[in-house]
Amino acid sequence: MNFRDFGFHEQLLEGIEAGGYETPTPVQAQVIPHILAGKDVIASAQTGTGKTAAFLLPLIDKLIETNHNDHISALVIVPTRELALQIAQHMEGLAYFTSVSSIAVYGGGDGGSFIQEKQALSSGADVVICTPGKMIAHLNMGYVKLQKLQYLVLDEADRMLDMGFYDDIMRIINYLPAKRQNLLFSATMPHKIRELAKRILHQPVEVNISLSKPPDKIKQLAYVVYEAQKMPLVKYLLQLRDFKSILVFCSRKQNVKQLTQQLKRAGLSADEIHSDLEQQKREEVLSEFRTGHLKVLVATDILSRGIDIEDVDLVLNYDVPHDGEDYIHRIGRTARAESDGTAITFISEKEQNRFAGIENLLGKPVPKSSVPQQFGLGPSYQPRSRNGKKRPSGSYRQR
Ligand code: AMP
Repeated sequence: MNFRDFGFHEQLLEGIEAGGYETPTPVQAQVIPHILAGKDVIASAQTGTGKTAAFLLPLIDKLIETNHNDHISALVIVPTRELALQIAQHMEGLAYFTSVSSIAVYGGGDGGSFIQEKQALSSGADVVICTPGKMIAHLNMGYVKLQKLQYLVLDEADRMLDMGFYDDIMRIINYLPAKRQNLLFSATMPHKIRELAKRILHQPVEVNISLSKPPDKIKQLAYVVYEAQKMPLVKYLLQLRDFKSILVFCSRKQNVKQLTQQLKRAGLSADEIHSDLEQQKREEVLSEFRTGHLKVLVATDILSRGIDIEDVDLVLNYDVPHDGEDYIHRIGRTARAESDGTAITFISEKEQNRFAGIENLLGKPVPKSSVPQQFGLGPSYQPRSRNGKKRPSGSYRQR
């Protein structure tokens, strides 16, 4: 499936292409047709699944043909200003070639931003992305043009309830016309979310994109390293234990090529798979690996999904995957069938926040090993949470 199959306007397709999206993610494939058909939707989808574009794309597409001037057409309510900003940036990119406008309205700004928000809210903006408290501050002043609103999105609804925003959300909804399309996204579906959905949504379609957790028999561990320590450490680890079949993942094909060269030079039986190789060559390499003639296969994420290789005893993430889904797919290449497996991830300084996001999705931290002495000290693990604060250890959301 590709984005053209949704029947999107050309201007939107241009934005999608410029954003580098090639194929819809599972949540997008499932949710977008229902939104386009005008249905209310309740979707359980975590961050990292592409859920933001799953609601932004159909909204932008629908708004391309509406009048852009005097009112607010869509309201996206989110728990934090970081998320509001992130969604606004997404929106700006995807809607770049359209005339659909948007503004983020979030707490903590200065007086200047309040005036700018007031201006947009009173003259109209197609999509307003807001945090509940700040929206209420504006609503209390009486100029927000919500009378013609058509779409309401509640994103990360479970987090909003955890943060005590229930009353604020209901107050905002009181300002909205009764006839509108409602979309609710939540990472988890506890009872209180279902209650909220019952009050707000009208005969919703339910979409469930829950990631299956990696099996417990996969032993996961991570090394917190400086980028320059990765190459020597990988060579060391691959020769340390008697792993028979090793899959190394890199996010960039340039890294795949360099690393394969280095491993070959170190005398290891290694080869590579990435999108620059002809299909036939890829199949040859894969077959060598499957039959045990090749010990180390270095690959990009093209190999992380859907390819069945039995008996991989070590998956090594040379870099942190883009999101939790990729992580789970990558490490799921080991410990298949009856066998056990190990999954090791290298986390450089700039990858720490991303890895913390993955740990959040897993619901538990991945044990960290210290870098062997001969490679020097590694950095400490100090990821920042999405509100910019240092994440206290043990603050992983249980799912
Ligand atoms: P989200 O779950 O909305 O936080 O999105 C996670 C990441 O996936 C973001 O960096 C998006 O830009 C990216 N993304 C969303 N949709 C796609 C897609 N169809 N193809 C590739 N990347 C995507």
